[in-house]
This record gives sequence, structure tokens and C-alpha cells, in this order.
Amino acid sequence: SSGSEENDVVVIGGGPGGYVAAIKAAQLGLKTTCIEKRGTLGGTCLNVGCIPSKALLHSSHMYHEAKHSFASHGVKVSNVEVDLPAMLAQKDKSVSNLTKGIEGLFKKNKVTYVKGSGKFISPSEVAVDTIEGGSTVVKGKNIIIATGSDVKSLPGITIDEKKIVSSTGALSLSEIPKKLVVVGAGYIGLEMGSVWNRLGSEVVVVEFGPDIVPTMDGEIRKQFQRSLEKQKMKFMLKTKVVGVDNSGEGVKLTLEPSAGGEQTTLEADVVLVSAGRNPYTAGLDLDKIGVNTDKIGRIPVNEKFATNVPGVFAIGDVIPGPMLAHKAEEDGVACVEFIAGKEGHVDYDMVPGVVYTHPEVAYVGKSEEQVKALGIEYRVGKFPLLANSRAKAIDDAEGLVKIIAEKESDKILGVHIMSPNAGEIIHEAAIAMTYGASSEDVARTCHAHPTMSEALKEAAMATYDKPIHI
Ligand code: FAD
Repeated sequence: SSGSEENDVVVIGGGPGGYVAAIKAAQLGLKTTCIEKRGTLGGTCLNVGCIPSKALLHSSHMYHEAKHSFASHGVKVSNVEVDLPAMLAQKDKSVSNLTKGIEGLFKKNKVTYVKGSGKFISPSEVAVDTIEGGSTVVKGKNIIIATGSDVKSLPGITIDEKKIVSSTGALSLSEIPKKLVVVGAGYIGLEMGSVWNRLGSEVVVVEFGPDIVPTMDGEIRKQFQRSLEKQKMKFMLKTKVVGVDNSGEGVKLTLEPSAGGEQTTLEADVVLVSAGRNPYTAGLDLDKIGVNTDKIGRIPVNEKFATNVPGVFAIGDVIPGPMLAHKAEEDGVACVEFIAGKEGHVDYDMVPGVVYTHPEVAYVGKSEEQVKALGIEYRVGKFPLLANSRAKAIDDAEGLVKIIAEKESDKILGVHIMSPNAGEIIHEAAIAMTYGASSEDVARTCHAHPTMSEALKEAAMATYDKPIHI
């Protein structure tokens, strides 16, 4: 049906990049079709990423609080137990409500939704094998590739989603593993490790590199790792997995120092491989129309998201840049604004990063290491959550706020927060920085009391002058 008429915009992929691009294009008056093969909209993020992981992080946090913190707040509960099927069902319900919500938004905005797998037959035609069976051709003056990313395995490790799982399997384990080994200490591994750790698994994180979450400010990272260790997560850094044997009951891993050396073994009931994600372009027949990809399979684009083939664009996880849902959404909006002949803009220096553990860690802008490497003269202001009244009032006061500002101008270069709800607080910093604020601008903004956001204000005071409460 959609195929017979030509579209202004055809989007391949219905993840946060693709579905947002499709809605925005329709809002700009462009005739738009979105092709998605999964059967549900929302992509990795809604189906097997951001949303189900946050659902489980919340549920597991509630259990953990009930078990370990309620009593000290005078709330008596007995026989606190995990009902894993119910917990997973609540996660699944939140996912299906949200994915259906996007279908509703497509209807509201008159985006045509084609369920099926698309491949290029020309730069303006996509053949779709539909989910119901059969095929159709969708034509478009402009085609946006938003096919996202997929789980990356490691050499010699086969993911079976039972004993050796990716993040997808780790979102649906049928039992709480006694021992979970997480391979890769990025944010996905730490979030999923936290979920199962709270539910009672013994969790060991094995990481090839010297640090967990390497994009994080070093000082914050150290405190964060210590916090996770206090929660009984164990870390083996500078360690690589050289062998996996899952022929027995559980899984036996052979490990070796990353630099080489003596081998050791580690047993687990379940191994989570969270060693990054690969851009996904399989089955698109990009070579047929001559779209270039780089060494690791990403699609290079110019500042208007155009690929090397006229009329073909790419956004989200499939292009270079941070593989994050909100970044994909920003790409999507800017890309269709350019297609509609307007201006679009994404400031990649201002994309916040958040790890949704407890406490959360959130950051925007540069780390102290990056500022140093650039040779910029800077000042640092810090404020510990332990001196924040709200955090103390609710007995949840682990963490700190750190602000880095240029020495001469006091312009904020980076903000790093470890605290409950850091992922919400960070946007105050993002807005301030987007408007080129100094730390004094933030410090002189009246903050409501008692809030954790006051820790940001006090850290700002500490950057150019002195804080009050420490
Ligand atoms: P995707 O979401 O991957 O969507 C691409 C879609 O294209 C898929 O649905 C796929 O089925 C479809 N597709 C592919 N090929 C075709 C084809 N040929 N025809 C039709 N359809 C096709 N990011 C955050 O910002 N915050 C988080 O908290 C967060 N948590 C995460 C947790 C986990 C466990 C994981 C795995 C990821 C998480 N992410 C998070 C990352 C986030 O999910 C991705 O950055 C985001 O989904 C990228 O969006 P996208 O639209 O580029 O691609």
C-alpha cells in the first residue's frame, strides 16, 4: 500500500533513532514510512535495552531496600522474597505498553508503519519482506538508515542465551544464578550485574582494560568502583577470558592477565558477555547501492547525516559517536530537519552519559583527564553528598558532585555526579553548559531546599569560591 506512492522519507529501523526521525519528519509535513522487522517499535532501547533494564534495576532496588534498609527506617517487613516471574512480568508489561505507545504515536502523526525486513534495491527503493509473509517495495525520495546495533560476542565465546548470555538473555534469566560472571565492565555489564547482585547472585566482573567505564572521570570512577565493591560486586581488571567450557553443569572460564601471564579458572552458573555492541547493517544490501562503511562496520556521514550516496542518510548506533538512545534521537530530529530544508544541530560535546546503578553516575562534558590532556588551565569544585541535607535526611548520602571549569573564564567544562537520581540532576548542568554558563552562574541560581540538586550548587560555589556547608 505504502509502496505504490512515493514517500518523502523512508526510515529503515524503528528504534529511538528511526521512530523519532519518522515522527519528526511527519510533523514537518513530509510523507513518511518507517520499516521495522522486529514486530514491535522502539528498537533495542525499548525492547531489550534501556527500558527493561531500568525496570529490573528499579524492582531489584526495591527488593534490596526492603531486605536491607526498611528496618532502619522503622518499616518492619518479614519474609521478603523475590518472585522472579512477577518481576519479569512487570518488566515485560512496561516494555509492551511503551512499544504500543509508539504505534499510537505513528497513527497520530500519520507515519506509515511497515512490519518487515528492508533491503535496498536502489538509492530510492527498499524491498521489504513483510512479517506476515510476502513482499513489497517502498519508495522514497530520501531514505534514512537507522538499523542500530547488535550484541558483540568475543572470540571463542558462543552466546546461547541460557548459560552464556548477552544483555538480552540477562534481562530474562529464569532463575537467579548463584554465581554470575560479567565479561566487560561497561555500563551495561555494571547495570545488569547490579540487578542480579541485588537479587542475591555473587557477581564477578572481568574486564580486559585497567578501568571500569573508561569514559568516566577518573576520580568519580574510583569512588564508583568502591561503592559497587561495598555492594559485594567483585572486579578483576586487566584480565582477559581465553577459554570457555560450558560442557558441564555451569560454565568454566579460563582467564589470563591482559598483558599475558599465568592462567587461572573461574566458575559460574551464568556468564554475561557485555563487551560492547556492533553497528548492524546485515541484510541491507548496502554494497548494491554503494554505501560505504568503515573498518568496524559503521556508516560514515557528513554533518547533515548524508552518506556517500545522494538521498541516503544514516543516524543512531549505526554511525560513529556514542551508542546511546538520546544521541540517536537527536540525530533523527536533526537529520529530517536537514531533509526538510531547515537547520538541524546536535552538540556531541553535550551528550550526557548515565549509569543507572545505585547510586547513579551521570556526567556531561569533559573529564578532568580530558581537560588536562587538552592543556587547559582549570579549577575543580567538589561537594560530597554526605554534606547534603536531603541525602542525609533519607540516609542515602553516598557520592559527590565534581565540576571542572576553565580557570580564567570560570566557564564550566564538565560536570560529574555520583548520587541517587544523578541521571535527573545532570540536565541542570547540561542546560547550563549549553548556554555557556560559568560555575558562578550556577552557584547564584536559587536552588530549592532540601534537594540533592543543592549539591551541584555547592560544588559550583566550591569551583570559584567556597561552599557553605562543608
Ligand atoms: P536500535 O535501537 O538498535 O534500533 C534499530 C532497529 O532497526 C531494530 O529494532 C532492528 O530490528 C531494526 N532493523 C535492523 N535492520 C533492519 C532492516 N533491514 N529492516 C527493518 N528493520 C531493521 N542507551 C541509553 O541511552 N540509555 C540506556 O539506559 C541504555 N541502556 C541500554 C541497555 C542495554 C541492555 C542495551 C543493549 C542498550 C542500552 N542502551 C541505552 C543503548 C540504546 O539501546 C541504543 O543506543 C539505541 O537503541 C540506539 O538506537 P537506534 O535507533 O540507533 O538503533
